[in-house]
Amino acid sequence: MNKKTLRDVDLKGKRVVMRVDFNVPIKEGVIKDDTRVKGALASINYVLDQGGRLVLMSHLGRPKGKGYEADFSLKPVAEHLAGLLGKPVTFAADCANADAEVAALQPGGVVMLENTRFYKAEDGKVKKTDEMSDEEIKARKAELKAKREELAKKLASYGDIYCNDAFGTAHRAHASTAVICKFIKESVAGFLMEKEIEYLGNAVEKPTRPFVAILGGAKVSDKLAVVKNLLDKVDTLIIGGGMAYTFLKAQGHDVGGSLCELDQLTYANEMIEKAKVNGKRLLLPVDNIAADKFDAEANTQLVGNDIPTGWMALDIGPKTTELYASAIKGAKTVVWNGPMGCFEMTKFAGGTAGVCKAVAESGAVSIIGGGDSVSAVNKSGLADKMTHISTGGGASLEFLEGKELPGVAALSEK
Ligand code: AMP
Repeated sequence: MNKKTLRDVDLKGKRVVMRVDFNVPIKEGVIKDDTRVKGALASINYVLDQGGRLVLMSHLGRPKGKGYEADFSLKPVAEHLAGLLGKPVTFAADCANADAEVAALQPGGVVMLENTRFYKAEDGKVKKTDEMSDEEIKARKAELKAKREELAKKLASYGDIYCNDAFGTAHRAHASTAVICKFIKESVAGFLMEKEIEYLGNAVEKPTRPFVAILGGAKVSDKLAVVKNLLDKVDTLIIGGGMAYTFLKAQGHDVGGSLCELDQLTYANEMIEKAKVNGKRLLLPVDNIAADKFDAEANTQLVGNDIPTGWMALDIGPKTTELYASAIKGAKTVVWNGPMGCFEMTKFAGGTAGVCKAVAESGAVSIIGGGDSVSAVNKSGLADKMTHISTGGGASLEFLEGKELPGVAALSEK
């Protein structure tokens, strides 16, 4: 990786302003899952052990951006973090007015700022309405951009060094994720971020071959750019899940009531053609589990690639699972994003479970991205057999699209 990391800077006595992803599920002030907080501990402890002073910032949920909202406060997370660290964490109740708390920081001390998204300037996104003229939109954009820079500058003033350990938001050019780097001398990757960039970057740019990518999930339109980019990189591309039926329809099959995006048929055919021209294997289902309704208790039948009228395909069939598993077996690098069927319902979980098992047994470097494939892997109990489970669904998809992530691009070069 050509970006600086925490290991490349002298932290002793320095103030480090660190963007973490503490966007955790909270109900009535109680944290339901603290995986993300624990995930940041390696970077946090490293800074503290090196004698640094730490200012942490994060977003939580999607507040309106008009100031404090109790449901989105990071205060319970700061308290939880204090318990995990075994030392006090000073909570600053306004991320843009924390000078006093930051000035009082001693080496080894921690300040946690309140939710950065309490300021609209954090994302700087203009909410367009039908009544707005083009001029108004332009003016509002310019106004928010200026405010975003102002907020970024303020956040930067809390530190000598910026550290980004929030891969999940690295695809956003927000004040705390990218713009801040303009106003601070050194910007480095935290350990979580470093791992994400290394695994995803190596998989896509210099994979050990054969390189097999598995794409699933509901919509083709969400993964258009991923399919296109991966067809230049992989040896085999496996497509399952709801998105497979647009490809089958494009090949002339009847897909019944299955998910199908009619406006993507030309695209699907272009991708099938691209695979042929590039000499890549593009694997599509050969059999499917069809249901008479979208329901966990639906009647089911095993069908080929023509789905009967009145039925919808909600999972790949056993022959397909076998076909996919045998392609995965020979792989040296596997990237997987999106389930093979409606794995949330037991009747339609077989394909995803089969693929998961094949990836776990393949011995390949395996990288799992996207919320649903990650939860499928966790559900299977095979998570520890995977090389890397990405923490950022959207960010990992943009990586696979070949896009440069603003939060990564803005970091200092080695
Ligand atoms: P995505 O967010 O695009 O990764 O899609 C994940 C969702 O796709 C999951 O909730 C699955 O239940 C759903 N899904 C997977 N396969 C199918 C299918 N054949 N039909 C309908 N939904 C599906």
